Amino acid sequence: MAVPLMQAVRVGSYVVKQHLKGRKKYPLVLMLEPLLRCNLACSGCGKIDYPADILNQRLSVQECLDADAECGAPVVAVAGGEPLLHKDMPKIIQGLIARKRYVYLCTNGLLLEKKIDDYKPSPFFSWDIHLDGDQLMHDASVCQEGVYDRAIAAIKLAKSKGFRVSINCTLFDNAEPKRVAEFFDTVMEMGVDGIMTAPGYAYERAPDQEHFLNRQKTKQLFRDIFRLGKGHKWRFTQSPLFLNFLAGNEQYHCTPWGKPLKTVFGWQRPCYLLGEGYASSFEELMNDTQWDLYGTGNYEKCADCMVHSGYESTAVKDAIQRPWHIAKVALTGPQVDGPMAPEIDLSRQRPAEYGYTQQVEGLLAKIQSTSPSKRSTTIRRIKTVKTTEQVKEAS
Ligand code: SF4
Repeated sequence: MAVPLMQAVRVGSYVVKQHLKGRKKYPLVLMLEPLLRCNLACSGCGKIDYPADILNQRLSVQECLDADAECGAPVVAVAGGEPLLHKDMPKIIQGLIARKRYVYLCTNGLLLEKKIDDYKPSPFFSWDIHLDGDQLMHDASVCQEGVYDRAIAAIKLAKSKGFRVSINCTLFDNAEPKRVAEFFDTVMEMGVDGIMTAPGYAYERAPDQEHFLNRQKTKQLFRDIFRLGKGHKWRFTQSPLFLNFLAGNEQYHCTPWGKPLKTVFGWQRPCYLLGEGYASSFEELMNDTQWDLYGTGNYEKCADCMVHSGYESTAVKDAIQRPWHIAKVALTGPQVDGPMAPEIDLSRQRPAEYGYTQQVEGLLAKIQSTSPSKRSTTIRRIKTVKTTEQVKEAS
């Protein structure tokens, strides 16, 4: 199974309890980014486009465990940046496992061989290796040759040492269904426990803005992939209803509070993908965020999004409300033919707002107030930061 039975039972009972308590908004997965620094510079990600003083920030072990206690979600995904660059990562993972959280440690695999003995196999722990397709696809995605081979070696090593391993596969508009299907076959043959897949989100700081999928292309791509996968027994870590949504069969609305993100800036509003502001506590995030401002149909930056950060929790909620529906989709797989569910009307979405520079300046000011010696370097660096507005004006 992509998700062990005990994990499915515990997460399922947590979800049912939230519904019985009448909680309309609750977290399902805590997304934790204890650092933004990475050892790769992928074309579809803009996270390393911060000044060095921000990239050098780390959430401490205690800050990570406090975030977990505040949030209380049964699953924690630790991402970044590259989490294995954080010297205290083993302590963070141990602390979360001790609380019986199901932890996914997302990594590009480059440091896994060096660090693997700092971790122990556990039913509560899984490596989640970033792999955006076969060798050509992945090396192109991460803008560096040889990364695919090292990620594959990392998967084999982790499996040989008894760890659970899943892969995290982001697809862009140059993905070919046949190649993706063959790639899924390959990782299944390698014994990977589960695949998590999604279309890339158009991060505004990503260097490559040309290859993000729109919703129509996303749905067709996943239909074509799932059609080729009929009978192949691919194991996905995601809900069957989320996969059915990717294939265009569900008209879901975003529920971004299901996967709240704690990062070096604070609790990110509204979601893992979109940094429109930060709350200082989880409670403030949940209670003071104007959630209706976000999601497809509400906000221009959300127009093309079909990522699990916003829609997996919607699928889980739907499973509780329509258990017969998830049973049917789990049995037959996502629907790959026939009309798609109606698309969300975008005519009333509000235009995009840009606050990157303000956020960066705010965090730099905070860093400087605690460490004045950094003042000159941060001022030098921030002058080179171009806002999206400036880029637009210049073009
Ligand atoms: S649709 Fe939801 S998950 Fe996607 S960017 Fe918008 S708020 Fe985030």
